[in-house]
Amino acid sequence: MSRITTLEVVTRQRTELVDITAGIRRLAAGSGIREGVAHIFAPHTTAAITINENADPTVVRDILAALERLVPQRGDYRHGEGNSDAHIKASLLGSSLTVLISGGDLLLGTWQGIFFCEFDGPRKRKVWVSFTDSG
Ligand code: ZN
Repeated sequence: MSRITTLEVVTRQRTELVDITAGIRRLAAGSGIREGVAHIFAPHTTAAITINENADPTVVRDILAALERLVPQRGDYRHGEGNSDAHIKASLLGSSLTVLISGGDLLLGTWQGIFFCEFDGPRKRKVWVSFTDSG
């Protein structure tokens, strides 16, 4: 059985990682799924989804700083919208994740959190989550 739910994400800065672990966990609980898989997908071309440490906030700061060094906002870009760096960063991190569900909860490592990665905010965004029951 599979169902698709939507998580709304409001971003407040141009570039930002928003911890959506609790939101995904809430959707998983609401789905009633015990054993299975969550497919998490960001339907955007200037935003991404990633998993990384959510215990120490300096990790998120360092990821954003490193991405900015790698793909600066201003550069030799042709795309007329002026947000080429956001498109490139989105492709580097990717638009989807698969997370296992066991015992009705997300199966994440101790320090892992799920982040919505905004690269051209602030905006109202969404994340689609599909739960597939294997129990
Ligand atoms: Zn663009």
